[in-house]
Amino acid sequence: MKKILTILFICLLFCGCQKNRQNNSVDDNYRVFYEIFTGSFSDSNGDGTGDLQGIIKRLDYLAGTKDSLGIEGIWLTPIFASPSYHKYDVIDYYTIDPDFGNQDDLDELIKKCHERNIIVILDLAINHTSSQHEWFKQFEKAHRENDTGNKYYYYYNFDTRFQGDASSSWCDINDTNEIYECNFSYDMPELNFDNSDVREEVLNIARYYLQKGIDGFRFDAARYIYHNHNEDSADFWKWYCGELRKIKEDVYLVGEVWTSEYITYQYMNDMNCFNFTMSQPDGMIARAAKSENINNFTNYVVNYQNTIHSVNEEAMAVSFISNHDMDRSAGYLQLNNGQAQMAANLYLLSPGSPFIYYGEEIGMKGSRGSANTDANRRLAMLWGDNDTISDPEGSTYDRSKQINGTVKDQTKDKNSMLNYYRKLIQIRNRYPQIARGTYEVIDLDNSNVGGFSIEYNGETTYLIHNNSSEEITIAADTYGKLLDYIGINTASYKDGRLTIGAMTSVILK
Ligand code: CA
Ligand code: CA
Repeated sequence: MKKILTILFICLLFCGCQKNRQNNSVDDNYRVFYEIFTGSFSDSNGDGTGDLQGIIKRLDYLAGTKDSLGIEGIWLTPIFASPSYHKYDVIDYYTIDPDFGNQDDLDELIKKCHERNIIVILDLAINHTSSQHEWFKQFEKAHRENDTGNKYYYYYNFDTRFQGDASSSWCDINDTNEIYECNFSYDMPELNFDNSDVREEVLNIARYYLQKGIDGFRFDAARYIYHNHNEDSADFWKWYCGELRKIKEDVYLVGEVWTSEYITYQYMNDMNCFNFTMSQPDGMIARAAKSENINNFTNYVVNYQNTIHSVNEEAMAVSFISNHDMDRSAGYLQLNNGQAQMAANLYLLSPGSPFIYYGEEIGMKGSRGSANTDANRRLAMLWGDNDTISDPEGSTYDRSKQINGTVKDQTKDKNSMLNYYRKLIQIRNRYPQIARGTYEVIDLDNSNVGGFSIEYNGETTYLIHNNSSEEITIAADTYGKLLDYIGINTASYKDGRLTIGAMTSVILK
């Protein structure tokens, strides 16, 4: 009897795990990521700046409970010691900025994220350091003293005054006749990647964090490694990513290669690249969400997937609408007519690993505006509770423009954007083929209803979007059963006819 009970117990455990696995999603990197601008998300200690303990406090919001958003990965904007609020200019890669916490807080965050099946990727800004980094101080000193035997003399790119490559920007090394490369700012000097010591330094940084349990990286300014020499920059990343894969085989790597799409392909040999063509007001997502010809969008998605797979079969599409360097999408996609919801459908129901920018799921606004400051794109998350988070320094955004409500408001409202995103991510996770399948275009000969057939594990699923303001009925007897729909309207299937409400998407099999 005891034996039978034990077997029964093991069965229950096993079934429980299986069930959990189905609900809970993934063990690969085809995940929905969430970009957190670390200083603007949640404040744990009342100083107004977001921090790692603040994120830990908000994990229930992100994943792990039935009311969570359901994301499966977090991209943290830089957390290392830095004099700026955005922290893309690092002083010390081995110290967590005291504004954000310390290494113990990071350990705790990693552990608690992993318990919820969230992976954590760090933003690695290694093209340049802060001018206050010890390496740069030593570099300047060595140049002032003409100490060519000092190893730091060669840590950054330098030239003789008036001789620097005119396609890069250069700043003076004070009290010398020399200059250093500074494409972003005088206080962001660019490292010399022809120097094997520098390569070893930047590899050690990533190794240190992988050994701590970090799951991957977002590479800042990836094409600037060798500015205007994409082949050399791409070669650098191929080497770097190869080394990281030796340390952690399934490391998740995504590069910011913000330039013409065809150039990004050469970077994709061993990493993913954000797909900038999808993003921003003129991007593929926003245009389709504003009811432009859906077939342009579907053809694009399929061509893109085919192209990146011709470079690297493992490469993933990385779609997003906006990030911390872009105006927020709720400023140009309306919620009341379903544009913002359709935009979310278009990219969260697409292949690869999409990235949500924090606050997008509540229709948060924020744009550079006349003050022309990126701080307005990185405003404090609107929790609507007692979080002491405040807007970053330099922001000028008028809070009265935030008309879409807070997390607290939207949690209660079943028709809110937040609940829409929750449902949408659940649907994505219910069908692993959406992230992982091979897409082909279904052209329904209608500019406002179109979609994909998706092949995965020998089965075909269909995903169809109606991106118009009208209900549309089509013959659909070849697409199987209507499994799910999501949009600001409903969908139904009867006698081989599929009716899709305005701004709504359906899944059939
Ligand atoms: Ca704080
Ligand atoms: Ca560089």
